[in-house]
Order: sequence, then C-alpha cells, then structure tokens
Amino acid sequence: MEALVYDGVSQTISYVSDYPVPTLINDTDVIVKVAYSGVCGTDLHIIQGKFPVSEENSLPLGHEFSGEIYEAGKASIFKKGQKVVVDPNRACSLCDYCRDRNYQFCTGSSKYTIGIWQDGGWAQYVRAPQDQVFALPADITLEQAGLCEPYSCVSHGFDRAAPLSVGQKILIVGAGIIGNLWVTTLHHHGHRDVTVSEMNQNRLKIVERLDTGYRLISPDVLSAETIQYDVIIDCTGVAKVMESTFNYLNPGGKYVLFGCCSPNAKAQVNPFQIYNKELTIIGVKVNPFSFPKAIKWLSAMGDRYIDYHKLGVKTYSLSQYQDALKDLKAGNISKAVFKINS
Ligand SMILES: [Zn+2]
Ligand SMILES: [Zn+2]
Repeated sequence: MEALVYDGVSQTISYVSDYPVPTLINDTDVIVKVAYSGVCGTDLHIIQGKFPVSEENSLPLGHEFSGEIYEAGKASIFKKGQKVVVDPNRACSLCDYCRDRNYQFCTGSSKYTIGIWQDGGWAQYVRAPQDQVFALPADITLEQAGLCEPYSCVSHGFDRAAPLSVGQKILIVGAGIIGNLWVTTLHHHGHRDVTVSEMNQNRLKIVERLDTGYRLISPDVLSAETIQYDVIIDCTGVAKVMESTFNYLNPGGKYVLFGCCSPNAKAQVNPFQIYNKELTIIGVKVNPFSFPKAIKWLSAMGDRYIDYHKLGVKTYSLSQYQDALKDLKAGNISKAVFKINS
C-alpha cells in the first residue's frame, strides 16, 4: 500500500508504494481504510527531530484521520464499511492517573500512540484497537471528520477553560488551524467579543473566510494598544509570545496555554500580577475522553464552520507530501490533509 514512512534514525520521510498492509492482531482490532489524514504541528516537530518517536522501526506517521472499517476482528463491535474516526492516544489504564480519569498524565508506557509509536494514518490502511475507534453519525462527512482529533483537543481545552461566559473579552493568539478551530468553537458557543492576533497576513485573510465579525489584528497593533482581555488563548506555543501577551489580562483573567512550547523554553511572567489580578494559568494536554464531545461538536457546527476552504485546509495526495509541507511552512494554508483512497 501507499504510505509516508518516517525513519526516526535518519530523520527522513519517504513515499513508498509497497508498505505492507496491516493485519489484525487481536480479535478486537479493526483495520481502517483511511480517507482523510491530517498533518499536525507535532508531525512537523517529529520530522525536525524535536519530538520523540519510535527509532526501532520506521513507520507511517499520522495521528489525525478518518476512514471506514475495512476489516473487523471477530470480537469487534464494528462492521465493514462503517465510517469512523480513531483516537490515536492510549494509556496503560493501570496507573493512579489513568484510574483517576487523567490518562493524559499516564506514568505507564506511552508507546501506544498511533502515528508516533505505532503505524499511523499517512497510509491507505491502519490497524487500531477498537476501543480507540468511534463510529460517526450520518451527518458528518469523512472530510469533516478528518478534523475530529484536533477538535477533541480544543474540546478538552474548552472544558479546562470553563466557564467561558458569553460577553467575556477573549483574545486568540495565533491563527494557524488551532486558532481557527478556537474561532469556530467560540463563535458557535455564542462568543462575539473576540480578537485574533496573527503575524502572517495570509493566515489573517483565511480567518476572514469564517465570517465571524471577530477583530483580526497583527501583533504590532496588539502591543501598541492598551486593551485588556478576560481570557487569552495562546495557540502559538512560543514562549516569547506568552511573555508579552500575559500582560494583557484583566483582573480575574485566565491565560490558556494551548500551544505546545518546546520543553526547554522559558518565559518571564510577573508574579505580582498573578497575585494582584488573581490570574489563572491553564495548561491543556491532548484530549482525554474528548472524542465523543468532538463528534457532537462536528454535528452541531456542520457546514457553517466545518468547511476546509473556510478553515484554510488544503488536501494533497500522499505522494504530494513535499508540496504539503512547503505550503504549510509558507503559511499559505492553515493545515494540510492527505486525501487517501479516493
Ligand atoms: Zn496532533
Ligand atoms: Zn496510566
């Protein structure tokens, strides 16, 4: 089968047409025929050698994908042809964190993640344990479902940031795909007083397509004005950005650190402000138990929001991966998604 295979030792990625098709191992496994499979910021970090990945085997990356059941193990609840999404994350289910509903902090083996430690969705077929697989309702297309995994992370962030009350003044920093998913989420939930700051003009233009009426500005405008916000959602993962934007919080404000900073990055914040304004800093890590919520969001948001053109998502074949990575780097698109088996 076709696949984009990453070699963790040489840190190179290559397109192959003869990667072995996966087979069932356990009776509860399924084989998913992949339809749409996204390129995530984490994948870019992996390719740059900045994120741990399997070095024992080269493997197809890709942890955000939709597709249909191609084969189901004999003890599986799924049927061939069912449309599904797959949560790539899995934990040990035995440590104290897992048993206290916080499996994102699992202290057991983390080497289960599909697309990082196990063969992923940048391929025509993927094997997945059925407890990581979720059936899609009829009103969600496979194209829309290609965004389910990133929405599951936003949905966890939304819960972590709760309550977000309509009328609060909100600043989204960074308008890559994650910023755009936050834009759609907040607008869908009734938020209207939202500002988006993004330095790439192409990306700001993409946000206009969502037609939310949100104020779209560049970081120099943001730093020149003296507006304060009740909630700031960082979608950049850049420590320097946190350093400056942290000063724009109102008393009682919340800083949601959604973008993933490099493990060695440092940012200076003023502890007196945290005391004096009673500020809250909220971290958000992946998507524990968030797929069912994300699927409901996709249904409720529908074509008004979940539209590749409006979100700046462009599709590519697996063999066009170099164009996909180039367009992403240039910021002409907010996200690249591989369209497979069509
Ligand atoms: Zn991801
Ligand atoms: Zn665990």
